[in-house]
Amino acid sequence: MSAVEARVFGNYIGGEWVDAAGGETFESLNPATGELLGAFPRSGATDVDRAVAAAKAAWEDWRLVPAPKRGDVLFRFARLLEGEKDELTRLMSREMGKVLAEAGGDVQEAIDMSVYMAGEGRRLFGQTTPSELRDKFNMSVRMPVGVVGAITPWNFPIAIPAWKIAPALVCGNTVVLKPAEDTPLLAERFVELFAEAGLPPGVLNVVHGFGEEAGDALVRHPDVPVITFTGARETGVAITKAAADGLKHVHLELGGKNAIIVMEDADLDLAVEGILWSAFGTSGQRCTAASRVIVHEAVYDALAGKLVREAEAMRLGPGWEESTDVGPVINRAALEKIHGYTQVGVDEGARLLTGGEIAGGNGLDRGFFYRPTVFGDVDPEMRIAQEEIFGPTTALIRVRDFDEAIRVANGIRYGLSSAIFTRDINRAFRAMRDLATGITYVNAGTTGAEVHLPFGGTKDTGNGHREAGQAALDVFTEWKSLYVDYSGRLQRAQIDNVEHPAP
Ligand code: NAD
Repeated sequence: MSAVEARVFGNYIGGEWVDAAGGETFESLNPATGELLGAFPRSGATDVDRAVAAAKAAWEDWRLVPAPKRGDVLFRFARLLEGEKDELTRLMSREMGKVLAEAGGDVQEAIDMSVYMAGEGRRLFGQTTPSELRDKFNMSVRMPVGVVGAITPWNFPIAIPAWKIAPALVCGNTVVLKPAEDTPLLAERFVELFAEAGLPPGVLNVVHGFGEEAGDALVRHPDVPVITFTGARETGVAITKAAADGLKHVHLELGGKNAIIVMEDADLDLAVEGILWSAFGTSGQRCTAASRVIVHEAVYDALAGKLVREAEAMRLGPGWEESTDVGPVINRAALEKIHGYTQVGVDEGARLLTGGEIAGGNGLDRGFFYRPTVFGDVDPEMRIAQEEIFGPTTALIRVRDFDEAIRVANGIRYGLSSAIFTRDINRAFRAMRDLATGITYVNAGTTGAEVHLPFGGTKDTGNGHREAGQAALDVFTEWKSLYVDYSGRLQRAQIDNVEHPAP
């Protein structure tokens, strides 16, 4: 550990780096090696108060900056991010553990979202519509809401903050970000680049710390009318309750238990590629991870055999080594939870086909590595087929036909992503209609969202909102209806334009 790596970082409030009022810190560690990456302020309500006050003050001016100019800041930010992509990719690999290709994709998602939302500065379309009265003009426009509280997880440490911050800013809001406590270092560089792009002080603030402390204070703060949150279902429920007294606008992106269906007419090689990428990419720590594979009985054995062989060939190691296929999981608690689910699966009577163990040797003991794990003969009601494990574990479920496949896929509390591998166009369209998820892929895995489409899920995956694309604007704006009467006299809607029948 060098002196530079052990550096103490601050909160970013009103354009200044400051310590937490209480003076306490917490540490960020490299999950592949245990290396100490830095110490960060363990913030509480006082720090949140300061950040919200800065954001509230900055809002008075930022809301009046023309939206295309707000977009220009996002364009410049995107260009700066592009320039630092390699550096941020490597940093992400060290702090979060992802392999380089995926970390690069995470940064690219932030670049893409910033460019997309920058363009929104020249759209932010409202509507004009005829009036029911003569000489009167009607329109609706999007208005900024105020200070947005953004609370983010560690698994997409650059992309997810960008998915929230870029639309919030272009819509004319200011932001207080509470990044995940496992990836605070990445947030640091992220806000520095916004400042370099010309974002005025106070428009974006960062308060580090734990969820129950800094996060909860942000959710409850009376001057924060919008909370945008991505994370676990249980946290989303707690946040909703905490925000209820303030009647806040709460946007939730929660967990998933996503299924890939493989029909008997599927291209099995392609299906296995899609499963490997979706189940074991990011070590299974994606909200869109394929933790269930629903397979037609006619191809079950062939698919299971091939999948197990390929899973066993995957190389574990630090994300920054080019030879690595699967990096570490985020921390010890995650490793223990994932391993605990292996025991649950075995106890439930599922067949452990491969993996199911904490990986050691070759330096892996220094970090948190878990072998890609495949369970076979899984009953759809088993806990390993119902609960989000958030690790490199997937469950094979055998079905007899298409209808059963759809029933099993839908038979869970979550509804984020789904996929079907088939060559039958009719089945593909029925699946697109009948899979009860916010996202469905045909002949691809469950993961790989593009920024200009809505992102989010049904049922317990959220509360009906969508992130990304045009849909994101609904989270960060309020509609305002405007009526302009140029008749020069009082005209009453619903009264003066109604033909009254003769008595
Ligand atoms: P988490 O809920 O533990 O933490 C997420 C964030 O919430 C962190 O910043 C944490 O500090 C904060 N937090 C925790 N308790 C809080 C509280 N009481 N009040 C306010 N803030 C609080 O989730 P995680 O472990 O970081 O992430 C994994 C989860 O995120 C998984 O369930 C995954 O499916 C989900 N996720 C969903 C999406 C999506 O878009 N649907 C994307 C990525 C991750």
